Amino acid sequence: MGVSVVSSVQKWKEFLTRYYKNSIHQLAVSDSKTKSLIVEFPDLINFDVRLAEALISNPGEVLKHAEDALPLVDLPVKKQISAYIRVVKVPKKTQVRDLRSEHINTMISIDGTVRKITDVRPRIVEAAFECARCGQITYIPQEGTGKFIEPSYCVCNEEKKGVFRLLFKESRFEDYQRIKIQESPEDLKGGEQPQTLDINVSNDIAGIVTPGERIIVNGILRSAQKINKDGKSTYFDIYLDGNSLEQEQQEFDELEISPEEEETILKLSRDPRIYTKMVNSIAPSIYGYSEVKEAIALQLFSGIPKHLPDGTRIRGDIHILLVGDPGIAKSQILRYVVKLAPRGVYASGKSASSAGLTAAAVKDEFDGSWTLEAGALVLADKGVAAVDEMDKMKNEDRSSLHEAMEQQSISVAKAGIMATLKCRCSLLGAANPKLGRFDPFESIPEQINMPPSLMSRFDLIFILQDKPEERRDQNIATHILKSHYAGELNEHRKNIPTSHVREESVLDAMKPIQPEITAQLLRKYIAYAKRKVFPIMREDAKERIIKFYLELRKQGEGDNAPIAVTARQLEGLVRLAEASARMRLEDEVTIDDVEKTIDIVMTSLKQVGMD
Ligand code: ADP
Ligand code: MG
Repeated sequence: MGVSVVSSVQKWKEFLTRYYKNSIHQLAVSDSKTKSLIVEFPDLINFDVRLAEALISNPGEVLKHAEDALPLVDLPVKKQISAYIRVVKVPKKTQVRDLRSEHINTMISIDGTVRKITDVRPRIVEAAFECARCGQITYIPQEGTGKFIEPSYCVCNEEKKGVFRLLFKESRFEDYQRIKIQESPEDLKGGEQPQTLDINVSNDIAGIVTPGERIIVNGILRSAQKINKDGKSTYFDIYLDGNSLEQEQQEFDELEISPEEEETILKLSRDPRIYTKMVNSIAPSIYGYSEVKEAIALQLFSGIPKHLPDGTRIRGDIHILLVGDPGIAKSQILRYVVKLAPRGVYASGKSASSAGLTAAAVKDEFDGSWTLEAGALVLADKGVAAVDEMDKMKNEDRSSLHEAMEQQSISVAKAGIMATLKCRCSLLGAANPKLGRFDPFESIPEQINMPPSLMSRFDLIFILQDKPEERRDQNIATHILKSHYAGELNEHRKNIPTSHVREESVLDAMKPIQPEITAQLLRKYIAYAKRKVFPIMREDAKERIIKFYLELRKQGEGDNAPIAVTARQLEGLVRLAEASARMRLEDEVTIDDVEKTIDIVMTSLKQVGMD
């Protein structure tokens, strides 16, 4: 290290005086108990690049120099001040999966979604021990490793092991919390499992985040030796000593749209075939299911959430359920949507994490304390949660889904944990019928393994039956083979001399199945629409919806109606029509949007057995 300690402290004093004198003054006169001074990294770079570099490469020491320098800053008031220095806006974000041994003991910046938090608890940072023989007090600083360090000898008798009593009053404690973050869904390439990192935070930054929230953490990457059954191992675990937290703004947008891309999006929105193009771009390798794909396209755009004057909120997100025989591409469709949707999260009802689909208070595997852990719907906040095998989900999930789907929040009250987490996401569920496959002699609604209260929370339900049908089977078979070989053949062809490529025409016939709009552009289109377009319904469109709803109510009156037609369906119609207008980046919901919505709702209702 080129900079000596004295000059480093001196430098910090200069820096703090020049850039932060006012904030330090305010801190000095405020009466808050724990104090932090927020320092922006770019200021430090402006001031002295070498000091900034030293902070990154040797943060443990350099932060201490900064904290030592703080009381040296001359203030208009005569007051000694000590505070934590918290550095924000550290450039160059590192992904959890890219962390390597070279990052250990350096300052890094990580972003992710909070998956789990422990309660805030006291941690001893300096323990005071009283010798039982002579009364002498020994102070022992406690490292953040979790291992309690006790003195073995006292000065009064260095020959004999001492007997000590811990003095609580004389010891120093701090508030402490552990957080687990996981990589945000949008940073993952399709299908990758998100990786996690444990973070220690203390004092004023403990207890301020909730699961599901997206945050940036700046801190020092530490390593701790793993312990296995033979004692200390040669392998090390990593964790982050959090120095500062930045809570991402509501408007934080992960997808950047350049002016040229905006141009392309606007042009595309005026294409008269835009609706068909969108639908054809959803899971193009799956044959058929155009009505399902249409519904999914609408889901991706979603309606507009409404805030009523009395404080209630009506969701804009559209929930869809696919119930079908096995082997008909339900899971494939779900996986595709997760890749396509900004912030898509995939989960299975069968093997959901301990937090389940929503959220739960769970015992920490490490120290047995209670933690609050986010499940799939919370992690998918402001995105799409694709939940496969919903028929096999646990009972707790079943009951917590009611609140999650309608109020879009989840309350957890267990083991002293009381929290409400947000899950403003669309749910795309897939389930098998009760007996695994549909029995043609039973009525459909009876074969859906889900309570009516839960079913009514889906805006659209599709029944997918696997009936042998020669023409369709032929088409599916051709389609599957086409998509299987197209990509691969082209890949192999690169290495084959042209003379060896026989039957050009066959290969041409097997051109890869391309979406009409690339996934990348579609994602940006959706993000753009959700950010900028908030259509309002025209009067004639409203009338059409009301008329249809009244007809529906009349039909649904009978005792044996498979699903109750309630005001929920009306809200669903509005959402779907709004999504349809959004797809065209249109400010008004027209009667055409409503007609399209009615068609798709009728298709869904007919399938479920209502006609
Ligand atoms: P499910 O989840 O409905 O049981 P999967 O999604 O696992 O079924 O699909 C089984 C396989 O069959 C997948 O490889 C899928 O691509 C293929 N498949 C089934 N139906 C179609 C279809 N209509 N078009 C293309 N592939 C299909
Ligand atoms: Mg499946």
